[in-house]
Amino acid sequence: MGNSVRKGKAVFVDQTQVKSLQLYKAAMEDHCSESPETTKCKRDGNQDSQWKNIEEKSGVKRKIQAYISTSDVVIFSKTTCDNCTKVKDFFDTMDLPYFAVEVDQMADGPKLEEALCEQTMETTFPCVFVKQKHIGDYDDIMKLSKDGLFQKLLETKEDKPSQDAYDYDLIVIGGGSGGLAASKEAAKYDKKVLVLDFVSPSPQGTKWGLGGTCVNVGCIPKKLMHQAALLRQALKDSSKYGWQVETNVQHNWEIMTDSIQDYIGSLNWNYRVSLMENKVKYENGYGEFVEPHKIKSTNSRGKVKFFTAEKFLIATGERPRYLGIPGDKEYCITSDDLFSLPYSPGKTLVIGASYVALECAGFLAGLGLDVTVMVRSILLRGFDQQMANKIGDYMEQYGVKFLRHFLPTKIEQIEAGTPGKLMVTARSNDGTEMREEYNTVLLAIGRDACTRKIGLDIAGVKINEKSGKIPVNDGEQTNVPYIYAIGDVLEDKLELTPVAIQAGRLLARRLYGHSTVTCDYVNVPTTVFTPLEYGACGLSEEKALMKYGDANIEVYHSFFWPLEWTVPSRDNNKCYAKVICNTKDNERVVGFHVLAPNAGEITQGFAAAMKCGLTKDQLDCTIGIHPVCAEIFTTLSVTKRSGGSILQSGC
Ligand code: FAD
Ligand code: NAP
Repeated sequence: MGNSVRKGKAVFVDQTQVKSLQLYKAAMEDHCSESPETTKCKRDGNQDSQWKNIEEKSGVKRKIQAYISTSDVVIFSKTTCDNCTKVKDFFDTMDLPYFAVEVDQMADGPKLEEALCEQTMETTFPCVFVKQKHIGDYDDIMKLSKDGLFQKLLETKEDKPSQDAYDYDLIVIGGGSGGLAASKEAAKYDKKVLVLDFVSPSPQGTKWGLGGTCVNVGCIPKKLMHQAALLRQALKDSSKYGWQVETNVQHNWEIMTDSIQDYIGSLNWNYRVSLMENKVKYENGYGEFVEPHKIKSTNSRGKVKFFTAEKFLIATGERPRYLGIPGDKEYCITSDDLFSLPYSPGKTLVIGASYVALECAGFLAGLGLDVTVMVRSILLRGFDQQMANKIGDYMEQYGVKFLRHFLPTKIEQIEAGTPGKLMVTARSNDGTEMREEYNTVLLAIGRDACTRKIGLDIAGVKINEKSGKIPVNDGEQTNVPYIYAIGDVLEDKLELTPVAIQAGRLLARRLYGHSTVTCDYVNVPTTVFTPLEYGACGLSEEKALMKYGDANIEVYHSFFWPLEWTVPSRDNNKCYAKVICNTKDNERVVGFHVLAPNAGEITQGFAAAMKCGLTKDQLDCTIGIHPVCAEIFTTLSVTKRSGGSILQSGC
């Protein structure tokens, strides 16, 4: 198939080939009673390649049909064609929404061109359809517009398939935090909703049930294991409170994981029941677009079903990233495997230095294991670095080792077992090589969005090619008007369970409940569940300085000593409170940071206050609750600028 440009128009198909294929298809259709894609007609070997061509072509034609029913105006375009840009500019100027299919960006672009040409008998780009009728190229649109006929065309009665033509009003791909919340909310408005959820096993073979990352391999087991670790500290503290606990207390990993997995099992079951109660149909299948309005669902036994819907929601979340070095997929585990590991991981190397890495390293060390964290650059990128470093110092004090500025290069198995023995080779920034033996290597180097294998190109949904993330507008709508996305797959949004849930619920209300309320991604509170918990809301000190400038920022801070820690006489001047205020705006609190036990419980309430526009004066006017950690925020008086002492001697 040639591809040349003549007088600014793309000429792209060999007409004789089209004719012969048409004749061949007609002949076969005469011969067989069923359509090409379902026919059981016998054919000889010579015909096979031509037949495959026809099958492919009929698929592409269905795809074109689906595209042109997507929007009132559909433009088949090429990114390199000037007239395509001009026609899009024309619609932009007219403020008319359109759906552009960039044919040269699609894997099956050449086939699509060929089928388009066959359908329209035109060889030029752009190829514009209005109300599913082929109109022509840029010149044809300009002529219609000049003759005043364009608006009339748009006003003609709709000829697109009715809503009833689809199996569902909404199909949600991904039954995690966001997908489940959105589907149940949509069903409340009497919408026919289907949720597809499927867990592809980790390279180590770990699988889990309905509910997504948070419930199965994220927040829930993480917080419970963090609690198991805190109990060890509580046991130590208890002797000063009069408890006579045996000195040689042991932890049993299997009992802990079994109890936690039992609880998770009950949550998986509750999710299924809740979907049933809300009349949401659930399919345990892997969903992928096969046509713009059609999904293929494949279950674990390979059984395939197809479903169509008017609208779609992508909520497929993320999965742990691998290093791409020898031995990583064979021998390393990730957080997907850790929480159901049937044996204690033993001496563990955690690679990575953000949320997942530090939380896992923290509770593993808290359970008494020998833990090292391999840090590529800094701790907790994106977080307030003063707080991040204090977390690191505290972890170090409690026995976690940090290997800074090292990158692993090779993982080898020395001995199989539960756990076995692994040899890790790593290189530092200055070229120093180290080799060390560990029982377990836990990769926590970030997570990749599950967007590359779900047929988004077929549906025309754009992703950021580098990150795999989906860009959306303020209404979580992708570039394809009837396809939405929420949760961890989104570009430039926070990857947190409550964010996914909130976005999902509000989206369903906007789609079906006449609501206009959008998800507010600003000042979202979060907590890092490291041994000394860290709660934060709003800007880090670095970001506040960058945004407002040093002269317009006042930072109030103080150490404090939780009363509970005074009797065991531990960790004074480790807990820390900091609020960052914008002096140009009535000392409005733009950043809230706390290192303390139960930091999440503290931060939640202050986040609500920040939503209401909390100022330093209002904090000062608030009467504290005594004796609790959070009361420190009502008495902060020392500014960082002053250099005044913030050390505490008692509560
Ligand atoms: P997910 O919950 O990941 O759900 C996506 C679902 O879609 C999954 O079940 C997946 O298997 C399924 N799926 C994927 N592709 C397909 C397909 N093609 N067809 C069908 N199904 C598919 N957040 C917090 O707020 N607090 C925490 O303390 C916290 N701790 C965390 C700890 C860890 C170790 C991790 C990894 C994450 C943690 N998070 C935490 C983040 C939180 O888990 C996520 O932000 C949240 O789960 C995102 O929800 P989601 O709906 O976008 O995706
Ligand atoms: P992340 O925030 O993307 O951090 C990845 C970490 O791995 C960084 O420290 C990064 O170092 C390091 N890294 C990346 N590539 C590496 C490589 N090739 N070699 C060595 N180190 C490498 O990922 P995450 O910790 O997995 O967290 C993912 C998301 O889950 C978070 O954004 C968060 O929203 C959510 N989460 C939330 C909670 C919670 O709410 N408590 C808990 C866990 C997870 P650099 O800094 O050098 O890039």
